[in-house]
Amino acid sequence: MSTLVSEAKQVAVTSSLIAGAWVAPQGAGSHAIVNPANGETLATLPYGGAADVDRAAQDAHRAWLSWREVPVVDRVQPLYRFKTLLERNAGDVATILTRENGKTLEDATTEVKRGIQMVEVACGMPSLMMGDSLNDVAKGIDCRTVRQPIGVCAGITPFNFPAMVPLWMYPFAIAAGNTFLLKPSERVPMTPTRVVELLVEAGLPEGVIQLVHGGREVVEALLAHPLIKAISFVGSSPVAKIVYKEAAAHGKRVQALGGAKNHLVVMPDADLPQTVDAILSSAFGAAGQRCLAGSVLVPVGDVAEPLLDLLVRKATALRVGDGMESGVGVGPLVGEDQKKRVVGYIEKGIAEGANVLCDGRSVEADPAGAFLGPTVLDRVKPSATVAREEIFGPVLSVIRAENLDEAIRIVNSSDFGNTTTIYTQSGKAAREYQSRVEVGMVGVNMAVAAPMAFFPFAGWKNSFFGDLHAHGKDGVLFYTEQKVLMTRWF
Ligand code: NAD
Repeated sequence: MSTLVSEAKQVAVTSSLIAGAWVAPQGAGSHAIVNPANGETLATLPYGGAADVDRAAQDAHRAWLSWREVPVVDRVQPLYRFKTLLERNAGDVATILTRENGKTLEDATTEVKRGIQMVEVACGMPSLMMGDSLNDVAKGIDCRTVRQPIGVCAGITPFNFPAMVPLWMYPFAIAAGNTFLLKPSERVPMTPTRVVELLVEAGLPEGVIQLVHGGREVVEALLAHPLIKAISFVGSSPVAKIVYKEAAAHGKRVQALGGAKNHLVVMPDADLPQTVDAILSSAFGAAGQRCLAGSVLVPVGDVAEPLLDLLVRKATALRVGDGMESGVGVGPLVGEDQKKRVVGYIEKGIAEGANVLCDGRSVEADPAGAFLGPTVLDRVKPSATVAREEIFGPVLSVIRAENLDEAIRIVNSSDFGNTTTIYTQSGKAAREYQSRVEVGMVGVNMAVAAPMAFFPFAGWKNSFFGDLHAHGKDGVLFYTEQKVLMTRWF
């Protein structure tokens, strides 16, 4: 095994783990991993290809034949040790994460904690995968259901949560008796590699986890490989849709989590200071690169002026800079290309009639980094591009509504349905909102309504393609197949 240490420049934190060996895979192409805070090249990622996927899948299948026979109480033992190792190395993992992704060290540390919670829940697999039973369903006949693993599962993950999102997947899959092949985002491969290294150190038998780095070629090989029985995908909606269709066409079970356009509705009776703090965290935390980031603000009635006044004052005061520095509230975007994309959206918003209350393009920060400050676009039309498309940056579009009905109409006209939050002191308004919005995760007075590990991550519409969501009970159901056993003794 290669030595992996936290100092990215010295190490092979870009190795793939195939058939029990840390190797440079053999596909075409590579990707330069750049620290988005200063433009420094940290490492070069060699891409895997179809031959690497085949080797990994064959070996994962070989490992599965014995792993599925291991009693579930024994299968979770390496996961308990993994949790301890993750806790012990949380600072190291968070530092790697901040350097390759850009989010602040505080956000990175929270992400690692959220990931650890996934492992904790997956350790409960002995009770989570229990079935039902009923004696005497007919005279002398007993019936019970059991859940069994499905085989080799694969995960394809995005750049914005390189520690947590893979942990939505493989702890559940492995504890349930499957083996797992991970293809992380090529933009941020060092964090998931370090985390997988800890899992190996925890004593997971060889072959149960495989890691193949790369891009599209690896994804296409995973979707078509006959030994892979289930695909978990998290990323943008256009790719999620392709993955869903392709994986299903190859007879695989699939869950594909996509992008988002999340609305924050503020009622006239909202507690303004607390609401503004929640909105700042939602819209500008992680530089807006969260699938649960608030992206459209919908002030209702006469709350708009005082709300926007306070919001803009506080947004302008947020410190933008290298996420490794303390006191920084907004780190860089993941790269220059992403910054260019987001700036393009701001320009389009202005061209389509928005009024700029706060312009992140003029932020003072290291020109070598992909920095963009908080941006607030007011008087955005519901039909405008910045009101409808996912921007994935620190940009908040404001659409004013007369009343709650109009606010709900605006929210429900979106093609996405990941999350939304209403800010109010009225239980009646909150209840009505929660019941009528066509969105999968609904918060009341929350900054980010992110479900904990034991609940599902339940996006709707173009934010999710499939039936069973990530983690929680859905995660257990997704990674297991149900069997009904009926017994009569003569
Ligand atoms: P992305 O769709 O570009 O990439 C995701 C994964 O798909 C990566 O591993 C990438 O290598 C692969 N990929 C990219 N293009 C591909 C193609 N044409 N064919 C096959 N594979 C391809 O997403 P990203 O930019 O890494 O991440 C940001 C997106 O992820 C945002 O849209 C965000 O909302 C979404 N996201 C969603 C959730 C959720 O829970 N719904 C969580 C995190 C991120």
